[in-house]
Amino acid sequence: MKRILVTGGAGFLGSHLCDQLVARGHEVLCVDNFFTGRKENITHLNSHPLFEFMRHDITFPLYVEVDEIYNLACPASPIHYQFDPVQTTKTSVHGAINMLGLAKRVKAKILQASTSEVYGDPEVHPQPESYWGRVNPTGVRSCYDEGKRCAETLFFDYWRQHQLRIKVMRIFNTYGPRMHPNDGRVVSNFIVQALRGDDITIYGDGLQTRSFCYVDDLISAMIQIMDTPDNFTGPINIGNPTEFTIMALAKSVLELTGSKSRLIFKPLPSDDPRQRQPDIALAKKMLGWTPSVPLREGLERTIAYFEQRFARGPRL
Ligand code: NAD
Ligand code: UDP
Ligand code: UDP
Repeated sequence: MKRILVTGGAGFLGSHLCDQLVARGHEVLCVDNFFTGRKENITHLNSHPLFEFMRHDITFPLYVEVDEIYNLACPASPIHYQFDPVQTTKTSVHGAINMLGLAKRVKAKILQASTSEVYGDPEVHPQPESYWGRVNPTGVRSCYDEGKRCAETLFFDYWRQHQLRIKVMRIFNTYGPRMHPNDGRVVSNFIVQALRGDDITIYGDGLQTRSFCYVDDLISAMIQIMDTPDNFTGPINIGNPTEFTIMALAKSVLELTGSKSRLIFKPLPSDDPRQRQPDIALAKKMLGWTPSVPLREGLERTIAYFEQRFARGPRL
């Protein structure tokens, strides 16, 4: 049994990670400031003897004793990370410094939830880990993109300078139950709009592509990465390489929900990448990992989650 800290543990990915770690018999300390996370994501864990929650903002120091740290704290959707961009950069940068300082003091292994956004609007397709990216340093996405890039720099400098055991994981678009219904991300937006009978909002011409990874696939890869030998630092891409246009996603959601919603077109947000697809050759080689849940099946499970939330009350 290990003592494991999960920052951002009340969020979408963090709460699934807490579930998986507790199920494997580990003691989990979940730290979150509830900026985008929700109590309902972890309510079912509160009475579990291996689970403990602490309300805390990781831009402030944290003194606890743990064996491993998964650093997930950071708003992930553009609406949320652009709401208070200075705080977003602080969370990525000050938060990383604090969690690395903690890892250094207690000699813990530490994993960073980085992002495909470090590649920016890429001119290389699909993106291998060796690609350095094309990121605008002064745009509206920069607080997130550059914050995450700086966090990666800090991880590698603590590794070089202080011999910390680090793992840097670059996460591509992931979806599933417990996504925030109002976070503006495409999968949750389309499902909520379809279930309400509202118009489906396609930004731009809908021909931009994304690859969508179901949350269970992502979390199993995350735990596998933490368990790799100490000389493996990453960065390592994790995502589903099957690429879909946003238009195709909208049509699948309409079909699976049986909704009569109309498709409408809205302007493309600035710096919106045209194409994004992970090169997962390293994950296949290092972990023997490939995603196993097809988009249709993952969408069905996610739609079922949002339907249940609708049935429970008016909070959507
Ligand atoms: P989320 O917004 O649901 O979760 C983030 C959690 O961090 C929330 O619970 C939030 O309250 C918490 N948080 C934010 N700032 C904090 C702070 N200063 N101190 C303590 N807690 C704080 O998002 P998610 O989709 O679960 O993303 C989790 C991580 O994975 C993030 O670091 C994100 O950048 C990364 N990621 C996610 C995706 C994706 O598709 N979901 C893609 C790439 C990277
Ligand atoms: N820190 C923390 N918990 C710890 C140890 C350190 O939150 O258990 C924070 C502390 O705020 C410190 C930062 O991590 O400033 C970086 O720590 P490090 O030891 O790398 O550098 P320091 O700033 O202490 O020289
Ligand atoms: N998008 C869309 N309609 C929406 C929300 C998003 O067409 O209601 C588009 C968005 O412009 C982008 C893609 O879907 O091209 C994925 O957006 P998301 O915010 O989910 O993720 P990211 O841009 O970070 O990959």
